Amino acid sequence: MPELPEVEFARRSLERWFEGRQLVRTEAEPGARTFRDCDLGIFKALKGSLVGIDRKGKYLMVRFSNKLGFVGHLGMTGKFLKRAPGEEVKWSRARFVLDDGEVIHFQDMRLFGRIDAVPAVELEGRPAVAKLGVDPLGDGLSVERLQEALSGSNQELKVALMDQERIAGLGNIHAAEALFRAKLHPERSVASLSPPEWKALVKGIQATIAFALDVEGDGEEIAYVEEGAPNPFLVYGRAGTPCRKCKTLVKSFTQAGRTTHFCPTCQPKQRRVDGDQMRKRPRARRYRG
Ligand SMILES: [Zn+2]
Repeated sequence: MPELPEVEFARRSLERWFEGRQLVRTEAEPGARTFRDCDLGIFKALKGSLVGIDRKGKYLMVRFSNKLGFVGHLGMTGKFLKRAPGEEVKWSRARFVLDDGEVIHFQDMRLFGRIDAVPAVELEGRPAVAKLGVDPLGDGLSVERLQEALSGSNQELKVALMDQERIAGLGNIHAAEALFRAKLHPERSVASLSPPEWKALVKGIQATIAFALDVEGDGEEIAYVEEGAPNPFLVYGRAGTPCRKCKTLVKSFTQAGRTTHFCPTCQPKQRRVDGDQMRKRPRARRYRG
């Protein structure tokens, strides 16, 4: 399922494809669930040059020069593809026809994606977008910002990271990857993190996003779509295979209805720093007070 890096990749691709071109016409697959919130009259009126595309979490906000735009969400299987005139594209739900005849398709096999066309001034106020939390790439991430975003959460760490109203853009894959990089067990509580662990988590999230953007930057569609493609992840989807760092077998369990992958050795459930300190200095504790 597309998460922040894949949506960012889609944003960059769309900007490149629209550059120097005019949108002359749009087409919608009749009755497609893609348009369930959408005024089709506005979708059909989209026209002109691209003014810009903002991304917040997993949402794209696309603006055209005729002051109309759309909010796009890739859902589970959605992606944008540019194809030559007349080329058939399976599961093409929406089409953007350019002045050179090329067509940008919104392809979506499972129809969880959506396109919601509105006047451009209303894009950021759409309910789905307005409630989103901090975007780790667009807004930037620091220890303070992450703490603020997760403050008051009684959720387990991975569940809190996937809460789009707190952190926008991380899903099941990249939350698990970030926690592995930060050496944090997915079931740790937000309140239990030490200052070094907060730092590690910020770095883990940033490195995970940077890595995923890099994988896609090679021009390959990311492996989540391609059946049988090599798994580029550190722990996600690797249960039963050796951890890339320590060779312990990666484990999985169900957490809030989703499968969580982690390494029991690299991501112990107990806070590692405290444990080390206690073992090293037992006497200091005895004489204190
Ligand atoms: Zn490990």
